[in-house]
Amino acid sequence: MVYTRDYLPDSSVLNIISKNESIEKEKLSRLILDGRVVIPHNAVRDHPPLAIGEGTRVKVNVNVGTSQDLCDPALEHEKAESAVTNGAHTLMDLSTGGDLPAIRRMVLSFTVPVGTVPIYEAVRRAGNAIDVDADTLFQVIRDHCKEGVDFLTLHCGVNHEVLQSLHLDPRRMGVVSRGGAFHVAMMAAREEENPLWSEFDYLCEILSEYGVVASLGDGMRPGCYEDAVREAKTVEYLNLGRLARSAHEKGIPRMIEGPGHMPLDQIGYNVRMIKELTRNAPLYLLGPLVTDIAAGYDHIAGAIGGAIACRNGANFLCMVSPSEHLALPRVNDIIEGTRAAILAAHIGDLLAKRPDAIGREILMGKARHDLDWEKQFNLALFPETARAIHGRDPGDETCSMCGDLCAVKMVRDLFDSPDEKKGEKS
Ligand code: SF4
Repeated sequence: MVYTRDYLPDSSVLNIISKNESIEKEKLSRLILDGRVVIPHNAVRDHPPLAIGEGTRVKVNVNVGTSQDLCDPALEHEKAESAVTNGAHTLMDLSTGGDLPAIRRMVLSFTVPVGTVPIYEAVRRAGNAIDVDADTLFQVIRDHCKEGVDFLTLHCGVNHEVLQSLHLDPRRMGVVSRGGAFHVAMMAAREEENPLWSEFDYLCEILSEYGVVASLGDGMRPGCYEDAVREAKTVEYLNLGRLARSAHEKGIPRMIEGPGHMPLDQIGYNVRMIKELTRNAPLYLLGPLVTDIAAGYDHIAGAIGGAIACRNGANFLCMVSPSEHLALPRVNDIIEGTRAAILAAHIGDLLAKRPDAIGREILMGKARHDLDWEKQFNLALFPETARAIHGRDPGDETCSMCGDLCAVKMVRDLFDSPDEKKGEKS
């Protein structure tokens, strides 16, 4: 799917997205042509179309994937299923252990857009990061495209200037992005430029052949509070800006990945800077995590940062799980992390003043005033959880929090007109 002036997704795809997102078809077409919206959809696979970017709802990605230490494809399947059931819009397979193509096929069997990070498999094929050469990396990229992956994280912006910044302005945590670290190791050991930077035109040719979205990776994502203001990240932003503009001129759909660990008061200007540099390319964020000391609750730190990021223009949030920094996530971590990200995305939609998101809030307020529990459950982001908590205690019209001293009921019975009361019951 190459977005030139002569080539937009076919009309039926535009119709579906226009309806799902409550956005006029002409406006949607303009946003796609301007590179502000992407539709990750490899022609090889069939799944409902999904738009990411300006004017559309904030989307949520969930990462699954094995490691060498814990390689259980059945567990990864269960995690992917839980993510989608709980509202994830896309999945990324970050596997680094076991039969990588087989695990990828399993993740690709879900009917949502799927992303991968080809450098991970390139490292496995080569044996280690320093032995990855350009041919291996481009071959893996081609293979993933052929198999139907819809978007690829590509750390194209990690070039020698970025490496120099790491030396000139060192960071406490060095490099914490796995893909970023692989590229740094490969470039330093081989004394060569990152092929994804130096051969970006060739990369774009491969992507355009398969209609795959480039997700320009954040290799210099800060790994702690202190590192958010260091130089390497900013140099990489400048590179990503150039690459985003270059890809767009070639008709290659792309989005940008962003930080990482970041104090809350720095999120706004970082997001706006990336947006400006990339001509408003769709922005995909991990977190950002607004504190380093939430271990076990990083999904909450990430949701707070994600909501603020959306306020400033972020479009796509990557789930952070409670096991972030600690271990490979299990199913329950995925459920909790997905839900926290879905909540942040909804807050983002509210901050963007989306009428559908605001309408749901208004209906919830009404249902709470009416003490209409069934409506409240149905309007909640996670109905079954709400229903189960309310159902723990026997009760009639109110809930067990205040029981017969229910403030809502007391004041409503005092002040509501008979007509309103009658209306409530109808
Ligand atoms: S009992 Fe208390 S918490 Fe429950 S609905 Fe009434 S006012 Fe709200």
